[in-house]
Amino acid sequence: MIKRELNYEGPSPLLYLLATPIGNMSEISPRTKAIIEESEYIACEDTRNSGLLLSRLGFSKKLISCHEHNEEAASSQIVSLLKQGKKVAYMSDAGYPAISDPGSRLVANCLNNGIKVSTVSGPNAALNALAGSGLDSTHFYFHGFLSSKPSERDQELQEIQSRKETVIFYESPHRIGKTLAALYGALGERPAVIARELTKAHEEFIRGNLKEFLALDVSTLKGEMVIVVEGKKEEKAIDEKAIINQLKAYLDSGIRSKEAIKKTAETLSINKNQVYSLYLSAFKNNQ
Ligand code: SAM
Repeated sequence: MIKRELNYEGPSPLLYLLATPIGNMSEISPRTKAIIEESEYIACEDTRNSGLLLSRLGFSKKLISCHEHNEEAASSQIVSLLKQGKKVAYMSDAGYPAISDPGSRLVANCLNNGIKVSTVSGPNAALNALAGSGLDSTHFYFHGFLSSKPSERDQELQEIQSRKETVIFYESPHRIGKTLAALYGALGERPAVIARELTKAHEEFIRGNLKEFLALDVSTLKGEMVIVVEGKKEEKAIDEKAIINQLKAYLDSGIRSKEAIKKTAETLSINKNQVYSLYLSAFKNNQ
C-alpha cells in the first residue's frame, strides 16, 4: 500500500537523521546545528564520540545509545519518546547514518510506528571519493565493505566483476593489502583510485590501476579510505588487420615475439590472448 506523507505538515512526530563530519569539523552545517539545538535527545552510535562532538559545538543533550548490537531495543525506546512528543535526532559516528553505519533498522521501526523520518544533509565518504576520483560518475554502484571472510569476499567480487558502473568500496587500513590483492585477482588491471583521509589534513588521492596498487607499501596506507574502481568496459571490436600490422612492425624492429605480443596488446589496449592467437595464425602456422 502506498503511503504519502509531507514531513513538515501537521504536528506528527519526526525523527531527524543527521549526517556528521567525516574528519573536518567545519563541515557541520548551520541546519544540522539548528536541529541539534531544538532536539531534546540525541540518539547516537557511540555516546562518547557524539558527546565529544556535541560539547565541541557547545551543546549538552540527553544521549541515547543506538548501535549495531542494540538497534532493535534502542529503537523501541526512541519510538516511544517520539510518540510522547519529544524531539529526537539520530547520528552515527561519521557521515550518514544507515550508510555502512547503524540507522536503517531505526528508520524502519519509526516508519512501522507511523513516525516520519527526515534527513539533514552533510558529508559522506563515498560521494567525496567518487566526485574526486575522475572516474565515470554517471552510474555507480556502492558496495561498502567487502566481507572479511575470504570465500564470501571472493563471491561478492565475482558478482561485481561484470558490473559496468564505477564501483565504490569502503576499507580499513588493517586489511587494505589483502583487499587490493583480491580486487586485482577478480577485476584485473582496471583504473582505480584510493581516496584516503578525506577532508582531513593528510587527505590523499592515489590514482593508478589495480595492478599498480599491488606495489604500494601498505604501511603508507593509514587512516580511513575509499577505493573507487572503474566498471567493466566492453571489449574492443578487433580489427585483425590492425593487430597483425602492429605485431609485424614490432617483430620487424627486432623485438622478440613474446615481448612484441605484450607491446601490441598494450598499444591497442586489447587482451594479450587475442594477440597471441592471431600471432599463431598469421606468423607461426605459415612457417
Ligand atoms: N557513514 C559513513 C559515510 O556516510 O561515509 C561511513 C561509515 S563506515 C563505518 C567508515 C568507512 O567509511 C571507513 O572505513 C572508510 O572506508 C570510509 N571513510 C569514512 N571517513 C573517511 C574519510 N575521512 N576518508 C576516507 N574514507 C572515509
